[in-house]
Order: sequence, then structure tokens, then C-alpha cells
Amino acid sequence: MLDSTLQATYDQVLRRNPGEPEFHQAVREVFESLEVIQGKYPEYNDRSILMRMCEPERQIIFRVPWVDDKGEVQVNRGFRVEYNSALGPYKGGLRFHASVNLGIVKFLGFEQIFKNSLPGLPIGGGKGGSDFDPHGRSDGEVMRFCQSFMTELHRHLGEYPDVPAGDIGVGAREIGYLFGQYKRLTNRYEAGVLTGKGLDWGGSLVRKEATGYGAAIFADEMLRARGSSFEGRRVAVSGSGNVALYAIEKTHQLGGVPITASDSSGYVVDEDGIDLDLLKQIKEVERGRIHEYAERRGGSARFVKDGCVWDVPVAIAIPSATQNELNADAARTLVKNGVEAISEGANMPCTPEAVSVFRQADVAFGLGKAANAGGVATSALEMQQNASRDTWSFEHTEERLTQIMKNIHTTCLETAEEAGRPGDYVVGANVAGFRKVADAMIAFGVI
Ligand code: NAP
Repeated sequence: MLDSTLQATYDQVLRRNPGEPEFHQAVREVFESLEVIQGKYPEYNDRSILMRMCEPERQIIFRVPWVDDKGEVQVNRGFRVEYNSALGPYKGGLRFHASVNLGIVKFLGFEQIFKNSLPGLPIGGGKGGSDFDPHGRSDGEVMRFCQSFMTELHRHLGEYPDVPAGDIGVGAREIGYLFGQYKRLTNRYEAGVLTGKGLDWGGSLVRKEATGYGAAIFADEMLRARGSSFEGRRVAVSGSGNVALYAIEKTHQLGGVPITASDSSGYVVDEDGIDLDLLKQIKEVERGRIHEYAERRGGSARFVKDGCVWDVPVAIAIPSATQNELNADAARTLVKNGVEAISEGANMPCTPEAVSVFRQADVAFGLGKAANAGGVATSALEMQQNASRDTWSFEHTEERLTQIMKNIHTTCLETAEEAGRPGDYVVGANVAGFRKVADAMIAFGVI
């Protein structure tokens, strides 16, 4: 049970947003963290900051009609939830996946508010997407879908109001088609309207790598804070998309041995360490399936169809596929096998029950808002480069990213300490993220 003020607000959120379990879960986690500051800042309650923060500033839902390769008309649903602009333009990715609905977009948008506050860059929170499933679709179909999606969405976007990026199912190809249509409709070469762009047309070096790199750097910081390191340690990564590939790359660079990768069809274990060139070839270039890795790698690499990637004994885990992919049973198995640190590359990949297993076992637990904030932080660096019409080197941008991740780690630890919960990254990230947004909202009055 929450404190009575928080509980009353939470009950109102439940009443007002029925049938949206992922959104409720995300709100509940933040509220539980905020218990430690309840009563300390009465102005937050007096001005109904939490209730206002839970209600998106604007929610856009639209029809996305397009024609498939057989000439048949398909209809999808598009979403953009412009959640909170207290700290800057709405910023957050677009997800194209069959499971996308309003509740999922709201959970992601709500998380994004606090995540975007942590790096200390001027960005608000938003999220969007569609129930369009790009798997098995031709390039032409993906292009026509993206063009139709942007035909409606473009009127809500811009360098100042709202700047989307990629997420599940939206990578460089989709951002290209979306940007092309935006440019055509508006007759403006407004590079700052989308991030994750190609390097020849306004993109930033390191943006592609940033989320995965950041999650591994955050794990490294948590390990160092405990006098430990990646050196020679076995690491499990789930997923094999944008975040997972670059979490694996940075893990290699930090001296760890990443031994797993997965997709929705199963997972692979490679005791010799994942061959990243091969995995990138299959996943980034050929858009293939994960079993092909084991077949082409040979040796001790194996594909497991119906198992759980978290059964593999490891010291560090970086879940990087999707929400609620790591439950309490998986957490208990990881703990039994001696896991030391979890860094969430994905958004909310661990269920609340799994998180409490890790906390009770004193495992270092880096929640997604902090651990995967490197992606959106580098998007903000892309916006800076676009605004100044400049291009930074890989080394400079990576140095900025590394420093941002270290600062987020320090902020989490310092805030947790102040709140009387030393070492609790969940409390640290939620309280630090919340306070900055809340203070800005108070400055703006009731709007
Ligand atoms: P992505 O490139 O589309 O890759 C997603 C990966 O996860 C794929 O391997 C996919 O396998 C797997 N996956 C997706 N849904 C799954 C499910 N229900 N069960 C099992 N596997 C599933 O997406 P991404 O950009 O890497 O995003 C991964 C996670 O990171 C998401 O939670 C996203 O919100 C979060 N995130 C991304 C960024 C970013 O910069 N991209 C930033 C912050 C957080 P299939 O291909 O088989 O579906």
C-alpha cells in the first residue's frame, strides 16, 4: 500500500486509464520511489504535480491506410503521446510492433519524462508508434507505410514542438522514409525534427551505438562502485536489435565476454563470446533470424528454441529486447547462478517481482530510465549538432556519452543516499528525474 496521498492519485490514474497494465506498472514504480520524499516538498502535493504529470499534455491517435504489394489496402493505427514539455520539446522514439496500443505508448512516454530529465539536457518526454509489424514486409511496403504515417504526424512535429526517434521496429531505414516524407510535405530541410538520421543527412556519429553502449557503461559504473569489473566475466544480453548489438560491442570493449543474444524465436549461447561481425551481418544487413547465428558460427554455439535466455549462468545481465521479458523465476535463477549486476537496456524489461528479487539479493540493479538514457542523450547531442550545423567526431561524441552516463550514475547514487536508500538506483533515478520536472512545472504555474 502506498502513502495515502500517493494512493489517492494512483487510484485516480487506474480509474481514468482502464485496461492499460503496462502504464499502471510504470506509474506504480515511480510512486513507490517517491514515498521517500512524501511530505518533504509540500508544494508538489499543493499543486497536484503528480496528477498533472500522469496526464499527457496531448494524445494523438490516427488512421494509417496504405497499399501492400498485392494491391490490397491495409489499415493500421498510429499514436503519438506528447507527454510532458516542462524541460524541452517532446522527445522519445516511435515503435512499430504488432503489440503497440495506447497503454504501451503511454507507459513508454511516462518513463521517458524522467529518463530525459536525468542527463541534464533540454528535452521533454513523448513516445509514439503503430501496430504495424515490419517483419516480413518488403522495403516498398515499409516505405509506403512510413509515408502514410508521416502524412498525418508531420503537422504535430518540428524542431521545437516534438522530435521523435527510433525504437523497436524503427531503425535507420524507417527514419529515412519518415524524414523524406516530412521534408516533402513541409518543403523544409528541418534536420532537427527527427533523430537517428543517416550520417550523410544530419545524423550524429554514435547515435546508433548510444543506447547499448550506455547500458554497458552504466553496468561498468555499478560494478566499479562495488569494487568489481567486467574483466573476463560472462555477460547475458537479450535481443539482437539496435540496443543489444551495441551492448554486446561495448561489453567486449570493457573486457567482458558476452555469450548470448536472442530474438522472439529463441536465443543463442556462444561460450567463446559472441562474434559480433557475424551477428551484425545476420541482423543488421540481412534482417535474418537468430538461429542462423548458431548454424553459421558452428563450434560450441547453439540455438535454444523454447528456453529462457536468463537460465544461462552469468555475472552480468543486460536485458535489451522488450518490456517484462525477465520475470521473478528468471530473476531467482540469475541470483542462484551468482549474478552481480543487471543493467536494463530495454524499457521496463524486468517485472516488479523480478526487481524485488534482485533488491533482496543485493544485486546492483540499474533501471532503464537511467541505464538506457544514453540513446536519448545522444539524440539531444544530434539536435545540438543540427542546430549549430556542425558535425562532431566519433571520439568527441563518445566521450560526451560516457561522461553523461557516469554523471547519471553519480546522480542516482547521490540522490539515493540523500533519500536514505543508499545504493538504490531505482529510488535515485526516479526521485532525481521527478524533482527537476516538478520544479519546472511549478515555475510555469498551472498549465
Ligand atoms: P529493435 O532494434 O527493433 O530490436 C528489438 C529486439 O528485441 C529484436 O531482437 C526483437 O526480436 C526482440 N523482441 C522484441 N519484442 C520481443 C518479444 N515480445 N519477445 C522476444 N523478443 C522480442 O529495437 P531496439 O531499438 O533494440 O529496442 C529494444 C528495447 O530497448 C525496447 O524496449 C526499446 O524501447 C528500448 N530502447 C531503445 C532505444 C533506442 O535507442 N533504440 C533507447 C532506449 C530504450 P524480433 O525481431 O524477433 O521481434
